[in-house]
Amino acid sequence: MASERKALPVIHKTRCTGCGWCVGVCPPHVLSLEVEHWQKSAQLHDAPGCTGCAKCAVKCPFDAITMVRVTDEAPHL
Ligand code: SF4
Ligand code: SF4
Repeated sequence: MASERKALPVIHKTRCTGCGWCVGVCPPHVLSLEVEHWQKSAQLHDAPGCTGCAKCAVKCPFDAITMVRVTDEAPHL
């Protein structure tokens, strides 16, 4: 059985301007904006709900989202 693979967005807070484009484009609505130290940035608040579609990464005008491939299962060593 092949393990199920998908990618999750990693948001680079130093590049994120909090514009909210990614939040609006995410089909399952698992991204939100949060305020931390007076700065708004995007946050993946529901990682299991993310489909890995990468629409957020494509939409981000500031190149602040990188899709990182993850495996659902821990590797068997
Ligand atoms: S990869 Fe798709 S589902 Fe996941 S946070 Fe981005 S837009 Fe939403
Ligand atoms: S689209 Fe990019 S810059 Fe805008 S809130 Fe999302 S991650 Fe941040």
